[in-house]
Amino acid sequence: MTILEETKFIMNKYHIKANKSLGQNFLISEEVVQEIVNSSQIEKEDLVIEIGPGLGTLTKCLLEKAGKVICIELDKKMIHILQDRFSLYDNFALLNQDVLKVDLRQLIKKEKEKENIKNIKIVANLPYYITTPIIMKLLEEELPLESITVMIQKEVADRLIAVPGEKETGAITYSVYYYAQAEGILEVPNHSFIPEPQVTSKVIKLVIRKQPPVKIAKKERMFQVIKNAFMQRRKTLLNALVNTKIFESKEKGMQILQDLDIAVNIRPEKLTLEDYANIAKLLEN
Ligand code: SAM
Repeated sequence: MTILEETKFIMNKYHIKANKSLGQNFLISEEVVQEIVNSSQIEKEDLVIEIGPGLGTLTKCLLEKAGKVICIELDKKMIHILQDRFSLYDNFALLNQDVLKVDLRQLIKKEKEKENIKNIKIVANLPYYITTPIIMKLLEEELPLESITVMIQKEVADRLIAVPGEKETGAITYSVYYYAQAEGILEVPNHSFIPEPQVTSKVIKLVIRKQPPVKIAKKERMFQVIKNAFMQRRKTLLNALVNTKIFESKEKGMQILQDLDIAVNIRPEKLTLEDYANIAKLLEN
């Protein structure tokens, strides 16, 4: 049976209609499933956490490769299907919860106590309506993850993996860069899913850094500067930071930029993360 036939069979058997409000677009491409699994480089001692397993298309391949797979799925209907399909696998676990409410640190800690785990990897075809909150939760909680391999909307993917200076750069580009090394893996057309999403998709991989690329005591201050710099995208960095009161005055702001050898008419997306760290440090002094 192809994945398309299998998906249709399961949907018929369980009378499933994709729930749009839960971001349900089921993968039906064998090549895309293989590419996601291969790029996650799963080994037998790995714990994989899959977010939104849905009908279990990816799950099936993950179970063959990983030491253990913990699936987190919000939709009860999917839970029944997943239990029917995979309860015979002794490396399968399932949580019927909203991933945004799960205490992942605690979950990982408990698993580590029980099992001999080498690396922890997140693999998912994410629900697109909450892509950014999920990725930011995974990064900001500083969980002991090795990597995050996810399919998301292409537009968001390009912002997450942009190199500062490129036109896709946004505040989130710097956050991702601080926590991880990001790469684009594969663009995925709409017809690889049923139902077809409105947007093109992209698989990206974030390899979590062991050390951050800049040293700063209060990283929250740096991220506050970045967030405010991008609130008014069409403005120069100086004007944006004056308007949002990060700089006390235009004169003070100009002084800070000149001290750091940063052009006073620079745009927010042209700065490096190190530039933002240096601005935040000077503001603290
Ligand atoms: N992994 C499946 C696949 O590739 O065919 C389904 C992916 S579908 C894009 C997203 C899945 O996330 C759906 O099964 C949906 O029910 C689930 N989901 C939506 N919101 C969720 C949440 N807050 N927590 C956990 N799962 C969620």
